[in-house]
Amino acid sequence: MPLSPPKGTPIGPPWTAKEWGDFLTKATDNPVRVTFGRARRQVIQSKGYWDDPTGKPIELRISSFFSQAPVEILSAVALWLRSGKRAKAACTELDLWIAERLRELPPKPAPVRSNRPQETEGNHHDLAPLVDELIGPAARPKFEYQESDFGDLGIPTFSWGRRQKSSARRSLQLGSYTESGHHIRIHPVLDQANVPRWVVRFVLFHELLHASRAATDPPHQPGQRRTPHDRAFRMREAEYSDYARACAWQDARIGALIRSARSGKPLGKLRRILGFQL
Ligand SMILES: [Zn+2]
Repeated sequence: MPLSPPKGTPIGPPWTAKEWGDFLTKATDNPVRVTFGRARRQVIQSKGYWDDPTGKPIELRISSFFSQAPVEILSAVALWLRSGKRAKAACTELDLWIAERLRELPPKPAPVRSNRPQETEGNHHDLAPLVDELIGPAARPKFEYQESDFGDLGIPTFSWGRRQKSSARRSLQLGSYTESGHHIRIHPVLDQANVPRWVVRFVLFHELLHASRAATDPPHQPGQRRTPHDRAFRMREAEYSDYARACAWQDARIGALIRSARSGKPLGKLRRILGFQL
């Protein structure tokens, strides 16, 4: 049974986010706050709890094309919110309508910059296949990431950093992610024979985690910075399949890496780390 629009609802689109919120609040009998977004993959996202004891509304983020939805779609969203997949007819109606809207959207603009092979192919390690090993299709859980983890921003671009002698004595940033360019840079000191491939892979994994957070968890206010290595970040990082070995290698080699970056001389071979296969 479709819900009928609550009294006082305007007759038709375009709806503002507030009108959507008012509609859903009345139709579900629970406060709902709606914002419009630009996502193409997850066009409806909801956060929050029903009957939240603190009175917090359900936060619903929907693509801006929902402003043009017919009133039946508003009802379908209300049913879906209340009953999830159990509201079968509403879900089918929504899926069809969304699929049609997505087809009508103009093609996504091409990313401003793309990876140039000369920047990703190092002398010893090529970054592109490593990134391919980390990001896979949704159906294959062995990958660390899925493309959708990077939201509308897409998979970031990546390159080796510029080769220049470092003057750092105490620390060395093995990788960095810049949000403005959605770009990952890996320190060229890692591009040498005695740095195992799986070490570079882990540094990429770490920077991809920053990129994925930038895409899916934007700062709450413009200009606000997030804490880069907060607890949630560290927990997700520790789920990495090769985490212990990669950390052990970094701990054992960071001094030698700093010296190598300063002198430009290659890193010696590491024979063993207790407890790990190198
Ligand atoms: Zn970091």
